[in-house]
Amino acid sequence: MSIGYGTGYVLMDKSQKAKVISELKISYPMHFQSLLGIRFPLLTNMGFASIAYYQEMSKFRADLDKPKSMPMGVDLLVSSKTPNTLFVVIGESSLQTHYSLYGYDLFTTPFLDSLKNDNLLYYYNAVSPASITRDALSMSLSFATPLDRTPFADNKNIVALANDAGYESYWISNQNKIGMHDSYVGLIASYAKTSVFYNFLKDDLELIGTVKSFYNPKVKQVFFIHLKGSHLEYTDKYDNEDSAALAGNGNETIEYDRSIHHTDRVLKSLYNNIVMEEGSSVSSLIYYFSDHGEIINKGHGFLDNNMDQFLVPFLAIPY
Ligand SMILES: [Zn+2]
Repeated sequence: MSIGYGTGYVLMDKSQKAKVISELKISYPMHFQSLLGIRFPLLTNMGFASIAYYQEMSKFRADLDKPKSMPMGVDLLVSSKTPNTLFVVIGESSLQTHYSLYGYDLFTTPFLDSLKNDNLLYYYNAVSPASITRDALSMSLSFATPLDRTPFADNKNIVALANDAGYESYWISNQNKIGMHDSYVGLIASYAKTSVFYNFLKDDLELIGTVKSFYNPKVKQVFFIHLKGSHLEYTDKYDNEDSAALAGNGNETIEYDRSIHHTDRVLKSLYNNIVMEEGSSVSSLIYYFSDHGEIINKGHGFLDNNMDQFLVPFLAIPY
C-alpha cells in the first residue's frame, strides 16, 4: 500500500513536520477568528466567526459549479484487482500517541494490537493537514493540500472517484451534514449515492448496523463511515465496557483513553460482523484514520505548536 499525493497524509521527518506547522499558521479566516476570540470571547468571537465562515463558504459555493476533472498527470485505472468492498472509517479527534498500537502504555486498542500481532494490518505515522474537521477532511478526501486548496473545487473528490470506478457509494455519518464545522464534509458526502447523518445522536457502534443493512457482497461498494470518535466531551464517547477495561485510578486522560478503546471496538465490530462474517468470499479493505488529533482535555483547532493536534492514526486492514 502506498500513501499517495493528495490523500492529505504524508510520512514526514522532524524538520518536515516543523515546516507543516509553520505553513498551518498561514491565517485562514477561521483561525484569525480563533485568535480574536481569545481576547474578545463573547459576541466578538461569534460575529467574526460568522463573517469569516460565510465569506469562505460563498467563495467555495461559487467554485462548486465548475466542472470537476482529474488532476494533471493522474488517471483513473479501473482494475479487476481492486477490492470488492471498501470501508473508509474516519475517526474524530483521535490522537495517535494514545493508541497501544502505537506504543501507548495502556491497552487502549486491543483489537488493533491483535491484528498487528498476526501481521494483518499496516499502520503508519501520519500527520493531519489541519486541526479542525472541515479543513482536515476537505484535504484528506480530495486532491487539495495545505499549500493549494484549489483542487478541492477543480478536481474530483474521493467519493466522485469511487463512483467513476464503479462502486456504489455510501456515506454513514454520526456527525452533522450542515454546520459551521462540517459543511465542506457535507459537500463531499453529497456525492455519495446514499447518505445517512445521525447528528452525534448514535453510539458509534450503532453505525455498523446501518452499514450492514446496506452491505451487499454481490456488488462493488464503498462505505465512508464518519465517527464522533473522541470529540469533547468525552463522557458520552465510551460505555461501561470501556470503563471496565480501563479503570483509571486518577489518570487525567482516562476518559479520553476510554473513547479510543471504544473506537477500537467499532473497528472490531466492522471486521467481525461484516468483513469476516459475510464478506469471506469477497476481497475487502478497511482504511481507518482520524481527521486530526487532540490536546487532551483542551480540544483542537488552536494556533500553537502542540503536535498532539496533528498526530493521527492511519492504518489499512486488507482482507
Ligand atoms: Zn474533527
